[in-house]
Amino acid sequence: MNWAGRAAANLLPLSEEGSDLANALREWRYTGNFHDLEEPVETCQLCDHPDIRYQFEIRNLKTGHELLIGSECINRFGIAATDEEGRALDAAGTRRKVERDRRKLIEDARSRRVITALVALAHAETDFDIQSFIVYLRTRGAFTPSQLVLVLWRLRTRGIVHRPGDFKLTVKRNREKAQLQNLKDWQRELISPALTPAQREIMARKPKSTTWDWE
Ligand SMILES: [Zn+2]
Repeated sequence: MNWAGRAAANLLPLSEEGSDLANALREWRYTGNFHDLEEPVETCQLCDHPDIRYQFEIRNLKTGHELLIGSECINRFGIAATDEEGRALDAAGTRRKVERDRRKLIEDARSRRVITALVALAHAETDFDIQSFIVYLRTRGAFTPSQLVLVLWRLRTRGIVHRPGDFKLTVKRNREKAQLQNLKDWQRELISPALTPAQREIMARKPKSTTWDWE
């Protein structure tokens, strides 16, 4: 059975329309509810695609039945999302909403992994003041170059599971730029996965000399 056939088999019994898939699909809306299962362990309840990690909820306006499906299926089957007043969005508006919700899921998962790694580090190193790091992270959403070197180095040496690319760096202030440019080679290598292309460019620039250049 192809994907449209599988969708018809799953959707028609839960819809008022009992035979035409296109008509039945018009009874359904994306509710704006979504979940992160943390692992790709579920199956899309619309197309039977396996390995779904992010579930998006759709509901039938007439029968009240609900299904949890992959985000691609909302767009592929033209299921409309709704705005705050409950009006159906067009295809482009739905696509934007699904994309926004998907990005939020991914971003939330990333920041959870960072906090989990920091908490594990605090357990491994009792002298590590995790609270000050978490407070800093909450305030600025990112670490300074010195903080990032310290955190990533300690995570690595303690063998704590983490993804360096999950961490974010801030270099808005001049002294943070200077920190970044004065890092040693091993420190640059360590924090490199956390940097944006623009931050990598700043790191590659020569640090501003603090003494006179006599030559
Ligand atoms: Zn699907």
